[in-house]
Amino acid sequence: MTQPLLTLSRDQLTDWVQAQGQPAYRGQQLHNWLYQKGARSLLDISVFPKAWREEFAHVPIGRSTIAHTSIASDKTRKYLLTLADGAIVEAVGIPTEKRLTVCVSSQVGCPMACNFCATGKGGYTRNLKAHEIVDQVLTVQQDFQRRVSHVVYMGMGEPLLNLDEVVKSLHSLNQDVGIGMRSLTVSTVGLPRRITQLAKHQLQITFAVSLHASNQGLRKQLIPSASAYPLKALLADCRTYVETTKRRVTFEYILLSGVNDSPAQAQELANHLKGFQSHVNLIPYNPISDADYQRPTTKRITQFSNVLKKNHIENSVRYSRGLEANAACGQLRTSQAVAPV
Ligand code: SAH
Repeated sequence: MTQPLLTLSRDQLTDWVQAQGQPAYRGQQLHNWLYQKGARSLLDISVFPKAWREEFAHVPIGRSTIAHTSIASDKTRKYLLTLADGAIVEAVGIPTEKRLTVCVSSQVGCPMACNFCATGKGGYTRNLKAHEIVDQVLTVQQDFQRRVSHVVYMGMGEPLLNLDEVVKSLHSLNQDVGIGMRSLTVSTVGLPRRITQLAKHQLQITFAVSLHASNQGLRKQLIPSASAYPLKALLADCRTYVETTKRRVTFEYILLSGVNDSPAQAQELANHLKGFQSHVNLIPYNPISDADYQRPTTKRITQFSNVLKKNHIENSVRYSRGLEANAACGQLRTSQAVAPV
């Protein structure tokens, strides 16, 4: 298949139009139509000569089609998107007064099999290409008729298993779509060597690591891949990340009642993170159908947060949006058949 146009930079698009016998300024026009106006086909680009549009109508842009949308009462919208090969991924649009955040998938399914996560229970199909990630952002932007301000790579998949395409998509979101690097967040469960590899790209993105446990024994129980990546090694790589990029690390910690939410575990976590340039996001667990974890009480959540505070570990409690549309963290899963919109 011909390489889709999405993720090509302004210069690359200019080269491409020139190679097709068009003047250079058409490159800038094409860039604008792809990334700002959301053209889905070259036929849409009304400023181009009709005969030329028709001649190149077959050139793929790389856009998905919306198979299904569900909207939660908090206005969060979840999308099931059909890709060129028929695979389906989920993206979520999360609006607030000041922000429109898109939660993007980086893979179709996920091979990590974390036992509290719905995606992990649905199996793995393939990595996404960079244009398939950028498309999710453009799709949400068009549907909300509002500019996307933030993107979090917290949908389906493990971004660091797809590092090259994820990095390519970050550059395109920044330079082509126009979203600030600091407003792009990559979240990972952590994989040996990959965190330091990402650090070498020296991106000014927000980097988040899904920790979820205060010791290696517990982490292994929750996250199978942690067996091959001891907590000490993971934290050492996070320190290298901070030194290399001069950016702090965000640690995500899902609170599971009676499993990892005791004050003693909060203290254990604090001991690991003392003096570390980091921020802890405490995420009360979102229930999924085939895991029997529970969300802790508010009192217990506050207690955990207070132990961290006493130890001078900066932290905040984040309730995910979109719970009842199954659009919250850990609830994305599309193995079932999808009815058209
Ligand atoms: N694979 C990446 C990104 C996808 S998951 C990662 O692991 O970070 C995004 C976040 O949602 C992770 O912190 C993940 O652990 C969390 N999550 C997964 N299942 C959840 C659930 N049921 N409730 C709350 N958060 C969940």
